[in-house]
Amino acid sequence: MSTLRFKALETLPFKDFRKDNSVEIPAKLSELFCENVFSENTMREYLTKEAFQSIMDAIKKGSKIQRLIADQVAVAMKDWAMSKGVTHYTHWFQPLTGSTAEKHDSFFTPIEGGRAIERFSGGMLIQQEPDASSFPNGGIRNTFEARGYTAWDPTSPAFIMGTTLCIPSIFISYTGETLDYKAPLLRALNAVDEAATNVMQYFDKNVTKVTPTLGWEQEYFLVDSALYQSRPDLVLTGKTLLGHSPAKGQQLDDHYFGSIPTRVMNFMKELEVECMKLGIPVTTRHNEVAPNQFELAPMFEEVNVAVDHNSLLMDVMARIAHRHHFHILFHEKPFAGVNGSGKHNNWSLATDTGENLLSPGKNPKKNLQFLTFFVNTIKAVHEYADLLRASIASASNDHRLGANEAPPAIISVFIGSQLFRVLEELEKVTEGKLSPDEKTDLKLNVVGKIPEILLDNTDRNRTSPFAFTGNKFEIRAVGSSANCAESMTVMNTIAAKQLSDFKKEVDALIETGLKKDEAIFNILREYIKQCKNIMFEGDGYSDDWAVEAEKRGLNNWKTTPEALKQEMNQKFLDLYEEVGIFNHREVEARNEIKLEKYSTVIDIEARVLSDIARNHIIPSALNYQNRLIENVKGLKDIFDEKEFKKLAKEQISLITNISENISIIKLGVENLMKARETAKAVSESQTQAEDYCNKVKPLFDVIRDASDDLEMMVDDELWPMTKYREMLFTR
Ligand code: ADP
Ligand code: MG
Repeated sequence: MSTLRFKALETLPFKDFRKDNSVEIPAKLSELFCENVFSENTMREYLTKEAFQSIMDAIKKGSKIQRLIADQVAVAMKDWAMSKGVTHYTHWFQPLTGSTAEKHDSFFTPIEGGRAIERFSGGMLIQQEPDASSFPNGGIRNTFEARGYTAWDPTSPAFIMGTTLCIPSIFISYTGETLDYKAPLLRALNAVDEAATNVMQYFDKNVTKVTPTLGWEQEYFLVDSALYQSRPDLVLTGKTLLGHSPAKGQQLDDHYFGSIPTRVMNFMKELEVECMKLGIPVTTRHNEVAPNQFELAPMFEEVNVAVDHNSLLMDVMARIAHRHHFHILFHEKPFAGVNGSGKHNNWSLATDTGENLLSPGKNPKKNLQFLTFFVNTIKAVHEYADLLRASIASASNDHRLGANEAPPAIISVFIGSQLFRVLEELEKVTEGKLSPDEKTDLKLNVVGKIPEILLDNTDRNRTSPFAFTGNKFEIRAVGSSANCAESMTVMNTIAAKQLSDFKKEVDALIETGLKKDEAIFNILREYIKQCKNIMFEGDGYSDDWAVEAEKRGLNNWKTTPEALKQEMNQKFLDLYEEVGIFNHREVEARNEIKLEKYSTVIDIEARVLSDIARNHIIPSALNYQNRLIENVKGLKDIFDEKEFKKLAKEQISLITNISENISIIKLGVENLMKARETAKAVSESQTQAEDYCNKVKPLFDVIRDASDDLEMMVDDELWPMTKYREMLFTR
């Protein structure tokens, strides 16, 4: 057999990577922690007291680092890095392409007299100029300035990859527009810090800083490299565009989930070691959901560092997978009919006094504080649900949202039946001043009861896109391939706006003579009334919910173009401007980049699907059909008419069936190519994306269905595409 499929399958039993790549884990993983990170500990060792303090102030208070200090830090970083065999440095950043980018420069600097030194200065640490023309900018650079630069983010620690010192950085144009994921995120984090700290003055004046926290859970698939290479659709689009899914029983068979195959275990062990060295605090090793699907989750961290760690991890995973002869798939839906991959984002707010603001406290006062942040979060999501929806929109996540394994595109909030009842009680609070009896009742019977009820708050709804899980909210609709920064920028922006609105409203009531607690109760009561429609405790996967949600007036933007269109609403443009995240031009540019990316993805999928259908599927089907025809001819030669009719009946019906499917595919490809040409010619990005979504994408199914039918008819030996069962159950 000469097809790639069989070449790939043949390599499987002979490759001895299972033994070769066995990985030893040191007994004490903790000793490796942050080995390759310019961590607080390392800084203390390498920096002067003054420089160390300056960095700590930058991290904790956001203060500027003086140039002289930057020079000291650069020298210390270089000395530390060189002691570990490092020769180059790079600003490591996250442009809007979706992956990470680097431009490696050497420490090596020639000086006079034919000599050279290793040099790394404050200037080099602070700023670098990448070849900006190769990154998307949504036209920003045409309008403003031709060049952009990267700038050191001292709040995320530098680290070593191979022989390169990597410096986490933001990427901005010379006129100050953001061109990456990190810069707006940092702005949003500052905004929520300020707003939440202000609100905290009602409860605890010792709080001077509030830090948002993120704990992500990353799902992924592993596929054997050779099998991956044999599927042009996987290689070119990250997903399979056709392929008959394995029988349901097979998918759910416990036998496949029982033990982690040695090969995968080796990959995981090596990954764990690498994560430790890079300071990524991975604790959960794995758990399988679909065949060949795994999950990894670290301890939560400050949002900015957690986002960097997730991006870094995705790079590292891809490289380590390669060493174990695997290809890693971060696509949200690489296999139709099989569970897809997500990236749950657990979010909360932590104070510099060590409190989690979404954790109920031990007394009524602490619980009022909890309720304040809890209800404000729900209110923020209620006001800006469309923005949160847009932040998770991508061509690949469209396949997953609303399928039977992920929340639908309707943004709702799950809080659990017990907290729901508490909010119902709060809704009954009288307007204006409260009587002493009312106050006592509220304290004892409503607010006071929260810690007790939460102890047995076991109802964890897994079908909600935004669920409260005891001491944090979990955004469950984020796609596995997404950069966490997008949803985190929105989450923190809307929380900042909501908390600062809340402060204004409460202060206004206090002005009218209400006590602080009364004012807070009054505002919370109004919020609860307004947010009722977004709170949903039932099954988010059910069809009934879509109907019910519509009645409640909740939006259900099913596709990326629809979701992205919402971003341009004046309400959101104003929000971004007010909170200081983006100006209108930046929102527009980013929106355009996302729309273009969407159209490009569908366009590539259309081309690849057509090519495979024409060059692989049709010829193989014809090949098999010819065999059948030969067989029928042979039967005709040997048997009399009556006998022949009986014996050749099945074959003839199969021959007809194959012809029908081939015709469907041929016509389907012609229609697809026409639709694609038309969509490609549209110049306005929103309309173009809508065309790709509504006129091009639906044509995929026709071709796929016919091809998947053929897969079941054609002799396995002749079928050119590696099958689902081979990719998913190869251990
Ligand atoms: P599940 O799989 O049921 O969603 P896990 O226990 O696997 O839950 O994951 C919980 C996630 O929540 C972990 O990644 C953890 O780091 C994160 N997490 C826990 N507390 C916080 C917090 N205060 N802020 C942000 N994330 C948190
Ligand atoms: Mg989860």
